[in-house]
Amino acid sequence: MLDEEVGIVLGMGVNARFGAEISSLKALHGEGYDAIFVGTGAPKGKDLELPGRAEAAANIHIGIDWLTSVAFGHVEKVGRRVVVIGGGNTAMDCCRTALRLGAEAVTVTVRSPRKVMKASDWEIKDALYEGIPILDNHAPKSFVLKDGKLAGIIFEKMVVTGTDAKGRPKLEASGELVTIECDDVLMAIGQENAFPWIERDIGMTFNEWGQPAVDRKTFMSSVPGIFFGGDAAWGPENIIWAAYCNGKSLVERPQPGHTLVSQKMGIHEWSYSNNYDPRKREAVPHAKLEASLKNLKLEVELGFDDKIAAREVERCLNCDVQTVFTENLCIECDACMDICPVDCINFTENDDEADLRKELRVPALNLTQDIYVSDVLKTGRIMAKDEDVCLHCGLCAERCPTGAWDMQKYAYVEAQASSACLSHHNAYLG
Ligand SMILES: Cc1cc2nc3c(=O)[nH]c(=O)nc-3n(C[C@H](O)[C@H](O)[C@H](O)COP(=O)(O)OP(=O)(O)OC[C@H]3O[C@@H](n4cnc5c(N)ncnc54)[C@H](O)[C@@H]3O)c2cc1C
Ligand code: SF4
Ligand code: SF4
Repeated sequence: MLDEEVGIVLGMGVNARFGAEISSLKALHGEGYDAIFVGTGAPKGKDLELPGRAEAAANIHIGIDWLTSVAFGHVEKVGRRVVVIGGGNTAMDCCRTALRLGAEAVTVTVRSPRKVMKASDWEIKDALYEGIPILDNHAPKSFVLKDGKLAGIIFEKMVVTGTDAKGRPKLEASGELVTIECDDVLMAIGQENAFPWIERDIGMTFNEWGQPAVDRKTFMSSVPGIFFGGDAAWGPENIIWAAYCNGKSLVERPQPGHTLVSQKMGIHEWSYSNNYDPRKREAVPHAKLEASLKNLKLEVELGFDDKIAAREVERCLNCDVQTVFTENLCIECDACMDICPVDCINFTENDDEADLRKELRVPALNLTQDIYVSDVLKTGRIMAKDEDVCLHCGLCAERCPTGAWDMQKYAYVEAQASSACLSHHNAYLG
């Protein structure tokens, strides 16, 4: 996959220098590039300076470095009992890798409650499926040594006492101590950026955490023409547009473009299936546990085959295709109301919103979702539709004898840094 992605970029004519570490930003800047984009990730794993850390160092590993060593074949085994400290994706990779290197008892410990763990839900689920317990509300206090060697960790249990202003749980130490015996510890409590290769006298502003200050809108640092993105800037959400190199303003952005295209092509000729199917999401098939635990290189998630993929896409709710109602075409035959599988179309007397919501055939209880109310129709009634439950199946439009209901496809194009870039982007998308 990576080869394919890299191949696409190289195919565009990029001049790449592989295997070349940048050890001085000043020197690189001096080479005369118009712009530099730094996407060096967050490669430094955090450490915990707890009592016993130095003495037990031989068996305490920084998770991300340990995973690298495993990937390059420098580490091929691990102790019998392993504790992983941390609740992110790195922690999930560490615990599952430890199991594959032969550990018999692997335990993950997290300082905060399970529900705020940073790891992806499916990674947590897979780790649990492989038999790895996750102990939440466990804050590490100190390392236990026996004969000069790591023998365990002492944790203090935390209790949730409420939530802070951002809705995160507030934690307090309970005083209850728990010791977990172990032979190795993998520390996966987060990564941070490391920029030893950026000279501090280059004129770049650094923030309170010692990281380059990066503009949220332009991705530019305080040195004109030096940009940061991805984990190197603020986590995985990066994208870079070449406006700066074209001499365009980075802050002036045009309005986003959007289009609505009618999907009506005649009865039973929709460009998508409108067969309502309440089937649950298909699970991604996994390799057999006995096989994957024995082989580090065996891919666990096998992906969908064509049959499952076809079933899964049938569940699509076509959110980009909207129901559009034209009052003066409606002859109030009520046929759409009859056909709608979720009873979200109503022809009724108008009322205050609160009462109208209750009077619908299926009461519209989600107050965060507007209900759609038409102008007054010929008989004095209105058409009210609960958007919250509409399946976008298009049966109303298919049934309507006058075309009062239409399904219209909505496309939204986000504006980039300049209109020149936008047209370049559209040309690229073809
Ligand atoms: C163990 C682990 C597990 C993860 N699991 C998941 C997951 O399951 N799902 C998910 O969405 N995300 C996961 N993440 C996060 C995800 O990998 C990162 O958010 C993403 O890779 C960041 O992309 P990036 O391009 O900013 O940096 P990176 O992918 O880190 O790329 C940075 C590149 O810059 C190179 N580099 C660094 N310094 C220099 C230098 N001085 N000179 C030249 N080159 C340099 C590095 O060699 C590297 O190739 C995980 C991260 C880790 C560490
Ligand atoms: S598109 Fe929405 S309103 Fe129309 S029939 Fe389907 S569920 Fe009902
Ligand atoms: S089927 Fe068409 S004409 Fe009949 S009530 Fe519904 S929108 Fe009006």
